[in-house]
Amino acid sequence: MAKLGRELRAKGFDITDLSLGEPDFDTPDHIKTAAKKAIDENYSHYTPVAGYLDLREAVCAKLKRDNNLEYTPDQIIVSTGAKQSIFNTVISIVDGGDEVIIPTPYWVTYSEIVRMAGGAVKFVNTSINNGYKITPAELESAISSKTKLFMFSSPCNPSGAVYSKAELTALAEVFKKHPAIFIMSDEIYEFINYGGVHQSIAQFDFLKDRVILVNGLSKAYAMTGWRLGYIAANVTIARACEKIQGQVTSGTNAVTQRAAIAALMGGMKPTEMMIAEFTKRRTRVMELVKDLPGIECSEPQGAFYVFPKVNTYFGKSDGEDKIENADDLCMYLLNKAHVSTVTGKAFGEPNCIRVSFANSMENIEKGFEKIKAALAKLS
Ligand code: PMP
Repeated sequence: MAKLGRELRAKGFDITDLSLGEPDFDTPDHIKTAAKKAIDENYSHYTPVAGYLDLREAVCAKLKRDNNLEYTPDQIIVSTGAKQSIFNTVISIVDGGDEVIIPTPYWVTYSEIVRMAGGAVKFVNTSINNGYKITPAELESAISSKTKLFMFSSPCNPSGAVYSKAELTALAEVFKKHPAIFIMSDEIYEFINYGGVHQSIAQFDFLKDRVILVNGLSKAYAMTGWRLGYIAANVTIARACEKIQGQVTSGTNAVTQRAAIAALMGGMKPTEMMIAEFTKRRTRVMELVKDLPGIECSEPQGAFYVFPKVNTYFGKSDGEDKIENADDLCMYLLNKAHVSTVTGKAFGEPNCIRVSFANSMENIEKGFEKIKAALAKLS
């Protein structure tokens, strides 16, 4: 959608982009300064595959400070973005014939990587009634003798769902009964959390060895283009991920790694400012989305998206375009309202669309005004 939006913009249309999956802020100055210093100090050589030791120590310090989790540097593997961390994890754990449970809606990359590994995805459909969170009973009934891995994100892209400590405790109790299952916990939106302190499923001692905690710098520090993610895992999985990465990309960019230490050890003021802005926008977006007729939408507890249910518009038309599904609605909004959004089908929830509020308040207001007018033409 972003690509189609850019093409229309190049033709002179005034496109409002509400499809963005990254903070609309710039990287904080103290991180950029560390990167410039690293260039001057000639950090221009190959890096250790797992990442510089002092960076892995900084990751451990962060996990202790923010999450009260104890890890040692040999349990940390730094990668070229959390996406590569997820790739390494899945490739190292999943073999042909293994099943991987993924609650829907989910971040699209999860299922594609499982397929690349030859695994079979077992989707568990969650619903708006349950805040798009999987229940212990749903998890239990999805588990089979072939289940190898469970993958989820909290806060969730695209639904904004955030699991509470009580909810994670209940899921952990299910995993306790099934000791062969690994859990990939994607915590990349950790700081973009509107409900309180982030909770990690790695906090349960009896489970920690089976949790592959994935995190990175893209969202918390507005560093999507720098490409740095990491896992914290048991040493066997960490070594497997290191081996895979050693044959694919080697260690990630040296300058980025030096900047990452500044990010992880530096002040959180810029992140807090970003979150304050996202919080304001979330309140406004909920008002705007409630103002759209026939649309149901849960309030995101984290991340920077709303995920409205739009199926009441299926079967309608403006006289030219017929809306059969969420894909059609997104195309209609792009072509007729000049607003880009993302179809829920991409996230395994075909009744919804994802609308990002990683854009200025002005553009958000303008985008929703155009969406409202375009929806009013459908009957
Ligand atoms: N997990 C989720 C849920 C995401 O939304 C994203 C980025 N869109 C990633 C992982 C990947 O982040 P990175 O930029 O670190 O590869």
